[in-house]
Amino acid sequence: MLNLNRQPIALISDHADPAANIGAEEAGGQNVYVRQVGEKLAALGWQVDMFTRKSNPEDADIVEHAPHCRTIRLKAGPLEFIPRDKLFDYMPEFVQSFRAWQAKQSINYPLVHTNYWLSAWIGLELRKHSQIQLVHTYHSLGAVKYRSVNDLPAIADVRLSVEKQILEQADCVVATSPQEHENMRDLVSTLGNIEVIPCGTDTSNFYLMPKSEARDRLGFDPHDKIVLYVGRFDPRKGIETAVRAFAKMQPELDAFRSEKFKLVIVGGSSHDRTDGIERARIEQIVREEGISEQVVFAGQIGHDLLPLYYSAADACVIPSHYEPFGLVAIEAMACGTPVVASNVGGLKFTVLPEETGLLVPPKDVAGFARAIQRILGDEVWARKLRRQASANVSQRFSWNGVGIQLSNLYRRMLAQSIALEPVSAKLSGLRETPVVPLKGKTVRTKLSGAV
Ligand code: UDP
Repeated sequence: MLNLNRQPIALISDHADPAANIGAEEAGGQNVYVRQVGEKLAALGWQVDMFTRKSNPEDADIVEHAPHCRTIRLKAGPLEFIPRDKLFDYMPEFVQSFRAWQAKQSINYPLVHTNYWLSAWIGLELRKHSQIQLVHTYHSLGAVKYRSVNDLPAIADVRLSVEKQILEQADCVVATSPQEHENMRDLVSTLGNIEVIPCGTDTSNFYLMPKSEARDRLGFDPHDKIVLYVGRFDPRKGIETAVRAFAKMQPELDAFRSEKFKLVIVGGSSHDRTDGIERARIEQIVREEGISEQVVFAGQIGHDLLPLYYSAADACVIPSHYEPFGLVAIEAMACGTPVVASNVGGLKFTVLPEETGLLVPPKDVAGFARAIQRILGDEVWARKLRRQASANVSQRFSWNGVGIQLSNLYRRMLAQSIALEPVSAKLSGLRETPVVPLKGKTVRTKLSGAV
């Protein structure tokens, strides 16, 4: 329900539906980010409308997540799943649907926060005809991603160009780690405003619980040694490295004899979807390595049960080739599970080597095998890592903190946009103004321009 005493803002997330099942198809960190940020901003006093492309005729057009926070699914192309590299052609229709929604609801969003480069393009289009404050979060940078890809998609040039434009033209781009900030400056542009605001995790859901309790609830053997992978089936996630490292450790791990070793792989959707191609490839590698007995494909698991998986594991492996932030790392550590991760991107920011986990060069199968073995083979050290990992995440990464930082950023931007306007515009803009929430006081803002 729209409340005009609140300042409405729009979060745009073209393909990553904040109301989707996370872990399936292309749903992952971006969906979690937009949903969590949206809910926290609503709790801080904003009216948050989150826009995404409708990809299933059976999905509701509007989902109310929490008071003053809703997902709105817009028509942009056929009502079916389309991989993100094929979505650009439908973005003009997204813009039209967004404008039609604004007109129908008589809302003008003075601030639009876009997510991923396709939404950046939408934001830049919207700004051609209305005075919006534009904030952007990349979630993935083409300039970094394409360095580890052999065949560039046909859309690569367009993506790189939009990513440069948004950095140079947005009012602010949010980097989720200092490493992402550095990548933007080194590889995208030296122009534009960047603020570093990390991602968070829900520490009321992901927290330290006894391993034995988690295993009991999941029906896992209390004596097994369990290595966990959580995430999408995407080649850039490096699941192959985890599987090959696990296989490499096998002969040495057999020396423990009394224990069994398991690699539990969480995530992925059914075989007829695009991520099924990567899943089939990984299953083939598992057979090739002769470890089918030890590998469990658990499928997509929701955030209700995921804390049990993290807590049940002895180590969580994150072998990504590239990771702008990597929510799985902080979720695992929040549950006290030491992380063995690639030393790339945001993982270098979140994982403290030798204190909360270990970092290894990406694709280094032998290095991953050695690191996992160190943790599995030293129970006393592993217990210390568990405690430190959980304490570190609670101190550094919470969605509440992220929500407050973003809310403060929005307030500053809206206040500045008013200060910069000519007096006549300010006066005319005060006719139907909603209110920007400010601690202890309110500021009126002009609604954005024509629909
Ligand atoms: N996830 C989930 N269920 C699954 C697999 C993944 O809920 O079966 C969630 C996971 O908990 C995390 C997100 O998907 O919140 C993945 O985010 P991350 O930043 O690690 O990777 P991305 O998907 O953005 O590449």
